[in-house]
Amino acid sequence: MKPPSFSGRPVKIRAKGIKAEYGMTATARQEIVPGFSQKALGGARIVLVGAGGIGGQIAGALVREGVGKLVILDRDTVDVTNLSRQEFFKKDLYKNKAICLAKNLALLGVAKTILYGIPMHLQEAVVKGYDLRCSVAVIAVDNDEPRVFGSRLFRDKGIPTVITGVSTDADRGYVFIQGISPEDPCLLCVMPEIVTTNERNPCAPGIIDILKVAGGYVAFGVVALLTNRKAFWNYRQFSMSGCLPEVIKRYPKNESCLFCGGRND
Ligand SMILES: [Zn+2]
Repeated sequence: MKPPSFSGRPVKIRAKGIKAEYGMTATARQEIVPGFSQKALGGARIVLVGAGGIGGQIAGALVREGVGKLVILDRDTVDVTNLSRQEFFKKDLYKNKAICLAKNLALLGVAKTILYGIPMHLQEAVVKGYDLRCSVAVIAVDNDEPRVFGSRLFRDKGIPTVITGVSTDADRGYVFIQGISPEDPCLLCVMPEIVTTNERNPCAPGIIDILKVAGGYVAFGVVALLTNRKAFWNYRQFSMSGCLPEVIKRYPKNESCLFCGGRND
């Protein structure tokens, strides 16, 4: 029997936030992290593509950190197998992930973050003319097609983008920070094979440990793009078991890249 599925309509919710207690704000400790800027994060609008395993970890981190606006896109619905690792509850079953995540995170927000839940994938949102202007875009999906699409879309818009993925065996993951200067590489500079392999792991055996690691690096990447918290890498690959060496690199642009090579735009 096929489970029911409800897509729902886009929602906009403001987190209540946490008032200062005895003169101390909820973000007081993170505000003294070197390079971090609460003002920069509070003024940022982030577009997050994917509300599932990694997307939920990223969104949870950004909302707790006090991001200003978070636009979440996902067409998928919650099923019972998601509940071991994604930011959903039994009440969310068969409902749209983007809408449920926006609602659930509104309860976590320490600042008055405005959350948008858009029940569609990125390509659909573009066709329907949704406002995707943002300070940073994040692509946290389970297949390469929207990664490539998002990389090109946001690069063309001049928006820095963080792209991530984890392997089917839940051992390896990567995070790529795509900058916007002419010298910065695009996703295809770093992973040229991605166009032909089009890896798709919609039923990846997800387990929360690797999702927290990937989500943490992505949230760090977003903060590094927005504030003076330094990232000395634009590509990071990790292995939970340690069976593969970690890769921490600052890739240059590939001048023969099929997408951005030789272009100075
Ligand atoms: Zn390129």
